[in-house]
Amino acid sequence: MQSPYVREAVREMNLPDEVIIYDTTLRDGEQTPGVSFTPEQKLEIAHLLDELGVQQIEAGFPVVSEGEWGAVRMVASEGLDADVLCLARTLRGDVDAALDCDVDGVITFIATSELHLKYKLRMSREEVLERIADTVEYAKDHGLWVAFSAEDGTRTEFEFLKRVYRTAEECGADRVHATDTVGVMIPAAMRLFVTKIREIVNLPIGVHCHDDFGMAVANSLAAVEVGAQAISTTVNGIGERAGNAALEEVIMALKKLYGIDPGFNTEVLAELSRKVSEYSGIDVPPNKAVVGENAFRHESGIHVAAVLEEPRTYEPMDPNEVGMDRKIVLGKHTGRKAVVAKLEELGVEPEEEIVEEVLRRIKALGDRRVRVTDSKLEEVVRNVLGSRGDRDDPGNR
Ligand code: MN
Repeated sequence: MQSPYVREAVREMNLPDEVIIYDTTLRDGEQTPGVSFTPEQKLEIAHLLDELGVQQIEAGFPVVSEGEWGAVRMVASEGLDADVLCLARTLRGDVDAALDCDVDGVITFIATSELHLKYKLRMSREEVLERIADTVEYAKDHGLWVAFSAEDGTRTEFEFLKRVYRTAEECGADRVHATDTVGVMIPAAMRLFVTKIREIVNLPIGVHCHDDFGMAVANSLAAVEVGAQAISTTVNGIGERAGNAALEEVIMALKKLYGIDPGFNTEVLAELSRKVSEYSGIDVPPNKAVVGENAFRHESGIHVAAVLEEPRTYEPMDPNEVGMDRKIVLGKHTGRKAVVAKLEELGVEPEEEIVEEVLRRIKALGDRRVRVTDSKLEEVVRNVLGSRGDRDDPGNR
């Protein structure tokens, strides 16, 4: 059930019916320190992204290595419904590599902030503009769909950024990307930024946000509130440093909070999260939104009693909608209703006296910080049943 305040706020916005997800798990996600997917793993993840209904998959950065080039080519030739993109610097050679991979389009980028121009690129503004013009035109001439990304755009002076985006537009770019490379934006600033870009170019705007201050998802959604049409995401939010906007959070927030649902097959999210966690070697924190182990787990007696009566009391979305399961966990916070439910699951008649005793023992175990797993519970129930009418209880000393 939606909050009445969200409903009222969203009504005031001019939201699109569809938001394009250009997922970069296979590129920025793979740039997570220590992560390297095999081509087969990339292909498997791409298939799941496609099943989910992501419209664009950024499959990699072909010039990085021979293996990467091969992986991008493999994903591009798989015949997925999603368009397959790859990353390219503003260099003709990078565009050639993309063409060799047979991708549908490229995201070509160059840094635009003074900081990056001075310390990284050692280039003048004029040189940057020339590079953008040359590469975008070259890619368009070779039949590619082209997005242009101004790297570190959110720390770039707007007067220059205006020239940057206009150059990309004049040379035929199909979309421009507002890039918060080091995650320094706040939602209000994102709304301001995207609004300003919309005033200077007539192209769809995509946003690529990083999570250095934990605001990648909020900033991405703030951009959509003022007319951005595409969001860059990664599964589980992996990526450089603190990572990117998490795909599962963006999709579920769009669907459940903003009412934007172009028919994503969200039941795939849990499996996608598990696969990416396994292949990247990066665990999903238990308290992670949507796909964390605890996202639909309940222990507290008050919560369990309410959820068993009506799940929406403590669940803002249905676990099945994202491929997850509801879990009732037993421990020191457990209440009577959870025990009754568990006994029924085990096919044991929940007589008052049994419930009380099982509950007492579970709380005692919880106090001793013993995890009450399903098999532990069965043991407790067996002991309680076995000790009925029997003063001595050898199983529970
Ligand atoms: Mn990035």
